[in-house]
Amino acid sequence: MTAPPTPSQTGTVPLRGFFLGQAVALVAAVGALALHLLFGPLFSHSVYLFCVPAVLICAAFLGFPAAMSTTVLMTVGGFLADASAAIPPSEQFARAAFFLFAGAVIALVGGQLRRTLAHQGRALDEAAEREALLRASLDAVAEATVVIDEEGAIVSFSHAAEQLFGWSAADIIGQNAKVLMPPAHAEAHYRHVRRYVETGERRVIGSSRQVTGQRRDGVEFPLELRIGEVKIGKRRYFTGVLRDLSTMREAERRSDELHAQLTQVWSLNSMGEMASVLAHELNQPLSAVANYLRAARTLIANLEVDDDDLIDAVSRAGDQAVRAGEIIRTMRVLATRGGTEQKTESLSGILAEIEFIIGLMVRDAGARVFYELHQGPDTVLADRIQIQQLVVNLVRNAIDAVAKFPNREIKISTQLDADGKILTTVEDSGPGVDTAVMGRVFQPLASTKPAGMGLGLSICRAIVENHGGRIWVESSPLGGAAFCFVLARTGVIGDGASGRQDRVRRR
Ligand code: ADP
Repeated sequence: MTAPPTPSQTGTVPLRGFFLGQAVALVAAVGALALHLLFGPLFSHSVYLFCVPAVLICAAFLGFPAAMSTTVLMTVGGFLADASAAIPPSEQFARAAFFLFAGAVIALVGGQLRRTLAHQGRALDEAAEREALLRASLDAVAEATVVIDEEGAIVSFSHAAEQLFGWSAADIIGQNAKVLMPPAHAEAHYRHVRRYVETGERRVIGSSRQVTGQRRDGVEFPLELRIGEVKIGKRRYFTGVLRDLSTMREAERRSDELHAQLTQVWSLNSMGEMASVLAHELNQPLSAVANYLRAARTLIANLEVDDDDLIDAVSRAGDQAVRAGEIIRTMRVLATRGGTEQKTESLSGILAEIEFIIGLMVRDAGARVFYELHQGPDTVLADRIQIQQLVVNLVRNAIDAVAKFPNREIKISTQLDADGKILTTVEDSGPGVDTAVMGRVFQPLASTKPAGMGLGLSICRAIVENHGGRIWVESSPLGGAAFCFVLARTGVIGDGASGRQDRVRRR
C-alpha cells in the first residue's frame, strides 16, 4: 500500500521554509547592521558572530537551502557593516569569505542533523503506527494471543486474551505468564520453553498442544496452545495463540450424552420391536404348541393312562406356552409405551439438540445437510428423545442411500400442512426406495441392506403412531426418497425443556 504524500514530499514546506529563512536572514542582517551602527566600536569585529546563531537556527529548523540563503544575506550585511566600520577592504573580503565558508559548513551540518532528526522522528512515528496496527490486528483475531519474552514476561496481551483470562492487558503486561496456568502445568511448560531456548530442540514451537489454563479467579479450563517464535535483534519472543476448548468439550459431552440417550431409546425400541416381531412370529407356533399339548392331554385321558404326573406335566407345559406368549406381548408394551414421556416441545428446539450429532454423521459420510424450518410456532406434544431418535434414524437411512452417489444431499424441513399440523420431511438425493420393499418399508424385517435388520423404519412408525401422527414415504425433488411424518401442533410451550434458545437455523 502506498502512503499518501506528506507535505514535505509535495514541496510546500521547503518553499515556505525558504521564504521564512530569507525573512530570518534579512532580520538578522538588518539587526547586525543596526547593532553595529548603534554600538559600532564594540561590535566592529564581531558582527559575523551574531550571524552564526541565525544560520544555526535556520539550518536546524528550516533546512539547508534556507540556512544557505541566510548565510549569503548575512555575508552581504556583514560586509556592509565592515565597510561602514572602516575595516580595510582586504580584511573585509577575507572575513566575508570565511563567514561564507563557515556558514555553508554550518548549514550543511545543521541541515544533515535536521534530516537525521526528522528521519528518526518518522521512524518512531512509523514504529508507533505499526505497533498500533499490530495491536488492532491482534485484537481483531478471535483467538487469544499472548506474547512473552525469553524470561516468560508478558509483553503483549490481546483483547480476546483479556476476555479469556479475565486479566486486563494493563494489569498483566510485565508479569510472568505462569499466572495464566495452574502451577503444576506452568512448570512443565516452562521446562519445554527453556529447553528450546538452551538447546534449540523444537518440541513445543510450531506445534499445537492441549494444555490447562487458569483464569484470574483461579478457575481452570482446557486450552489449545500454538506457540510461534519471533526474533527481534538479539531478543527472542514467543507468541502463544490460545483457543478455549471448554465449549467444544461441553459440546462433545452433550453429544455423547445425547448419543447415549438415543442408543438407550434405540435399544428399548428395538427390543420392543423385536418383541413385536417375535410375538408375531412365535404366536402361531406357541398357539400350536398349546393346542398340541391340550390335544395330548385329551389323548392321554382317552388312553386311560392313569398317570397324574404325566397329565400334570402336559397341562403345565401348555400353561407355560401361553405364558411365554403373554411375556413377549408385555415386553413390547413396556418397551414401546412405558418409557414415553411426552411434553410440549418446540420442534426446532428438538432438532437443534441433534444438529451437532447429525452434522458429524453427515460429515463422516462426505454428505451435506441443509435445513428449511417453519418460521412460526412449532410446538408439539412429544417425547423429545423419541422424536430425535426418529429423525436420526431417517437421516441414517438417507446417508446410507446417498453413500454410493457423488452428489450427497440431505434436506430436513418442517412446514404446516393443510390441516395446520407440522409436517417434517427428511429427504435425500439417493436412488429412492427399492421397488422390492416399496410397499412394506415400515414393516419389520423389510430390508434391502446386506446387514440390515429391517427394524429402523418400523420403529419410526411405532414412534410416530405413539405420538398420534402418521408417517409415509414419497419421492423427493432431490431425486431420492422423502420420508414425511406429521404431528399435531399444541399451544404454547409448557413444562419440559421448553423455551430452549439453541434452535436450529431457520430459513
Ligand atoms: P434397515 O436400514 O436395517 O434396512 P429400515 O427399516 O431402516 O431397515 O429400512 C428398510 C429399508 O427401507 C431399507 O433396507 C431400504 O431399502 C429402504 N430405505 C430406507 N430409507 C431409505 C432411503 N432414504 N432411501 C432409499 N431406501 C430407503
